[in-house]
Amino acid sequence: MPILEKISQPSMARHWTDSIPLEFHYTAGVAGEKFRRELRDNGRFLVSKCAKCKNSYVPARMFCPSCFIEMKETRAIDEPGYVYSYTTVNRNRAGEPGETVTLALVKFEGVEGGIIHRLDDKTIDKAAFGIKVVPILKDRTERTGALSDIISFKQA
Ligand SMILES: [Zn+2]
Repeated sequence: MPILEKISQPSMARHWTDSIPLEFHYTAGVAGEKFRRELRDNGRFLVSKCAKCKNSYVPARMFCPSCFIEMKETRAIDEPGYVYSYTTVNRNRAGEPGETVTLALVKFEGVEGGIIHRLDDKTIDKAAFGIKVVPILKDRTERTGALSDIISFKQA
């Protein structure tokens, strides 16, 4: 097929399949860095608050998604979160049968956004919407400032 011929299906184009070794490094950004440090150092989630609309967001971010202004006010969450939504999966990332885990979107009262993580099956027999949860964290000396510092969320 000549290069100037119009194609209607992507599979009709001449192509080859290969891979390119690439390595990516993304920065967490200013607010992301503060969020990660608070999680690592104090085991808490950092929230940013908009001075204009008064909305709060977790994870902390630089700019309000509604007002597009910089949010300079932050606070750490001390209250338990609640299960906003959840699902149970029994396959690994490759789609093969694997460990059964329940993943939840954990939200916090009065805060937009949330944290998606696994629920602790030892303290939570049956996941349900609205149950209060708190994070189980790795020991302070093992934390790196990543969401993997959270082992799971347990019932509060
Ligand atoms: Zn705002």
